[in-house]
Amino acid sequence: MATFLSNPPAPDAKFGSALPWGNDQKGCEPLNPPQTAEALAMIIITRPDATEDQIEHIVSRIHDWGLRAEVSRGEMRVVIGVIGPEDKIREKPLGAFPGVESVTPVLKPYKLVSYEFRGTPSKVKIGNVVVGGKEVVLMAGPCSVENEDQIITIAQSIRKAGAKILRGGAFKPRTSPYSFQGLGKAGLQLLAEARREAGLPIITEVMDTKDLDLVSEYADCLQIGARNMQNFSLLREVGRTRLPVMLKRGMAASIKDLLMSAEYILSEGNFNVLLCERGIRTFETMTRNTLDLNAVPVLKAETHLPVVVDPTHGIGIRRFVPAMALAAVAAGADSIMIEVHNAPELAKSDGEQCLLPNEFADLVGRIRGVAEAIGREV
Ligand code: PEP
Ligand code: MN
Repeated sequence: MATFLSNPPAPDAKFGSALPWGNDQKGCEPLNPPQTAEALAMIIITRPDATEDQIEHIVSRIHDWGLRAEVSRGEMRVVIGVIGPEDKIREKPLGAFPGVESVTPVLKPYKLVSYEFRGTPSKVKIGNVVVGGKEVVLMAGPCSVENEDQIITIAQSIRKAGAKILRGGAFKPRTSPYSFQGLGKAGLQLLAEARREAGLPIITEVMDTKDLDLVSEYADCLQIGARNMQNFSLLREVGRTRLPVMLKRGMAASIKDLLMSAEYILSEGNFNVLLCERGIRTFETMTRNTLDLNAVPVLKAETHLPVVVDPTHGIGIRRFVPAMALAAVAAGADSIMIEVHNAPELAKSDGEQCLLPNEFADLVGRIRGVAEAIGREV
């Protein structure tokens, strides 16, 4: 298991050590210009007896050559991912450094998100909550932020029940232009108030590049919704921030499409990315979507990024959400996102699929049981 967080504090010529660990996460330039089709990732694995000096020497040489290095520390070995133009990487004698055991190119179409690029799972920090470790992190809250009383009441109740992150949409992607579109900036301000009151970091959706600066002022984690999974300009823009980003799978997107979209974000330098399975469209009509739990073990094998499951949108029917949440934990999800509302009959969106606070509290106890059975905790 990894002992580092994403974007480890490796010395970086451009940013020093102030990278994504401080609170000063905003407004950073990308580490490198966007990668082109010729970009190649090479993986250097060091010998178990490689010294710190040898590792530092490799990293500083890679930087001198104008290439990028991502250092991941496993229990026995250090993996150094190298990224840059193919012709430039191929001409470098990467295997000749003392301390190197092997050098292999990443042959998959997704490179920075691929598991082998780090050789160990990544952890992403949202506020003071770490996703991707032993803990199965619970995110909960209403579909939309509606008013002060609603968001604060829900925030307090989910915190008491054991949730670690508060969700709530201020900018809502709705199928109909006549449906409630979210409170916008006022919704973000209410989320910030709920964060203060309940002491929970917040995740909220950004739908458009024009709103990114505003949403980034408030959010601890940006959510990219299913309908925007392939909004490539938005992906690149959130890749230029250092805020954590949860990327939801598009409803007609393959697992590979999801990984390729995440690659856009990482290629801009932001490694703080979570992937979210939220159900796909199939021929089935008895449920809102089909929650593809196959994606969980497949993603855990294919990528180092943490995996979140949203069973609420995945099945879309309140009384079936708990079963799918438990199944998602059993399948290996690092985090579960659940919609909770204190008055679902009055909810301005998704009232039919959200749990009541007491139903959520009951579910947390059962999730804990499943998590412990597979060696994890809540
Ligand atoms: C949501 O989380 O409220 C949401 C709109 O999700 P999705 O993008 O998965 O439909
Ligand atoms: Mn919703």
